[in-house]
Amino acid sequence: MTDSATANRETLGFQTEVKQLLQLMIHSLYSNREIFLRELVSNASDACDKLRFEGLHNAALFENESDLNIRIAYDKAARTLTIADNGIGMSRDEVINNLGTIAKSGTREFFSKLSGDQQKDANLIGQFGVGFYSAFIVADKVTVTTRRAGENADQGVRWESDGGGEFSIEMLDRAARGTEITLHLREDQDDLLDGHRLRGIVRKYSNHIVQPIVMFKEEWKDGKQEITSEEETVNQASALWARSKNDITDEQYKEFYKHVGHDFDDPLAWSHARVEGRQEYTQLLYVPARAPFDLWDRNARHGIKLYVRRVFIMDDAEQLMPQYLRFVRGVVDSADLPLNVSREILQESKDIEAIRKGCTGKVLGLLSDMAENDKEKYAQFWAAFGKVLKEGIGEDFGNKDKIAGLLRFASTNADTPEETVSLADYIGRMKDGQEKIYYVTADTFNAAKNSPHLEVFRKKGIEVLLLSDRVDEWALSYLTEFDGKQLASVAKGGLDLGKLEDEKEKEAQQKEADEFKPLTDRIKTSLAERVKEVRVTHRLTESPACLVADERDMSGNLARLLKAAGQNAPASQPILEINPQHPVVLRLRSEEKRFDDWAAVLFDQALLAEGGQLDDPATFVKRINQLMMEMGS
Ligand code: ADP
Repeated sequence: MTDSATANRETLGFQTEVKQLLQLMIHSLYSNREIFLRELVSNASDACDKLRFEGLHNAALFENESDLNIRIAYDKAARTLTIADNGIGMSRDEVINNLGTIAKSGTREFFSKLSGDQQKDANLIGQFGVGFYSAFIVADKVTVTTRRAGENADQGVRWESDGGGEFSIEMLDRAARGTEITLHLREDQDDLLDGHRLRGIVRKYSNHIVQPIVMFKEEWKDGKQEITSEEETVNQASALWARSKNDITDEQYKEFYKHVGHDFDDPLAWSHARVEGRQEYTQLLYVPARAPFDLWDRNARHGIKLYVRRVFIMDDAEQLMPQYLRFVRGVVDSADLPLNVSREILQESKDIEAIRKGCTGKVLGLLSDMAENDKEKYAQFWAAFGKVLKEGIGEDFGNKDKIAGLLRFASTNADTPEETVSLADYIGRMKDGQEKIYYVTADTFNAAKNSPHLEVFRKKGIEVLLLSDRVDEWALSYLTEFDGKQLASVAKGGLDLGKLEDEKEKEAQQKEADEFKPLTDRIKTSLAERVKEVRVTHRLTESPACLVADERDMSGNLARLLKAAGQNAPASQPILEINPQHPVVLRLRSEEKRFDDWAAVLFDQALLAEGGQLDDPATFVKRINQLMMEMGS
């Protein structure tokens, strides 16, 4: 090491999350340790792609060397393995940021929530895009030497770490552009210093990488490092998506996914097609098996890799997928777009709109297919991404019916929230005379399942969908009917069961309404502004009272959600409905002294039962205690 190098050498600490991750990584991934090579090659390939892209606008970056490749060298004597690329390289700041921190927001919370078992789950850890750190599975020291394309030769950087808490960084001269990563192998990793073994690993995991991966053996001779075996290209080095489907194995599709999706897990499904017509393009789109931890992070990277005639254009081209399909990963390769297309152009391009439409249709088709032919797989998809897909009901009017067909709901027909039904299932089971699809919305599955609004439906054996996702109420406001059947909230408007009730029932109800008119009027006077109306209902069989929203008003559940989200919900008064069969209601008819207290308790408990919050809980408790004491005396 030269003096000047020592002088600028600095030691820095890893971000806490990186330290945790390094430890987890080494243990959880050890059984599949050879994937470190896949990850480093994947990064090298991305670095070449980035240079290609930046080089489109700035040819000087190529420094007169535009053949991009990845080189793997092994040295038995030094016990090192080196993965090098002549891609974009990194500046000093980039090295510190990229190899010292995990930039993705939300990682800290995520880590603190991982249970012991989850920590051992390699696939979960893989979703951080922690590829580089996997080097420490097999190495006890890693040295990275890099120079960013276009910088002067004295802007080289060396990063080094033993995977403990720190890394060192120093500037040095480096003629070659790009990045070289040297792994000083751990004691028991000598099997990796073998050309045959390494070629096998590369072909297994990285055959699809578009740049040639060149391999050779190095050796020290007279104090100098020399290449002693012939260089050979190990991978197929052609764009996988450009090949014919018949020439691609499932394994190859899966390995390619891990590269484009930055995922350690296999994908759930994929669709590969060449589209011809007004726009000509190839699409290879994947549905992941599980949700990334940053699915709800607005700043998270997502989208599709865009190529134009096999030249990499950009990562995360979010214009190629609608928001509600943001979990889809893959590649679109256009034959028509100009090479210098920018994000701004993408936003306004009609061609891109056509491609997005095509890709959306493909993904929805893939999902419909899965829903029909592989219910178990679809259930897995739904558990991971159902909430996101629901956004499509409000977002993509053109595909609303298709998306509605993909929705799944918990239902009174099942015991757990995991057993779900489709709208088509529901319609298939509708009772004779039933005209509507009934649903209830609440904060939680249990609140929905035990909602007093369901009582009459349970009695009559009518199925009700139980909705407890935050997006449900919003999404359903865009879905008023499915397959000719109206969707109706059981907590809104008057209860009209149509032909599900016979004339006799209807007559009896009318009679009761008349009979209880003095009582409902009296309660309304007592509750005054708190309610819009008080009326007798036949939707209750067990509870004394419930609240419903007027047909055109916002439901109580939605008003609460909006309030919780800090938004102004227009104040609308609920309607109090009372059960004329219930002993408490019957007793109220003869109550004199405490009538106002009884009425208030009736209202408050109805609010509580549907998951609402009391304005004045202390007074409620006081009233209850007062009434209990009086009943005892
Ligand atoms: P990911 O690749 O999923 O972002 P990694 O931990 O593997 O996560 O890499 C972190 C970052 O380091 C990359 O996003 C990239 O910016 C940078 N990087 C890694 N390897 C290279 C390389 N060979 N050349 C240039 N940059 C690299």
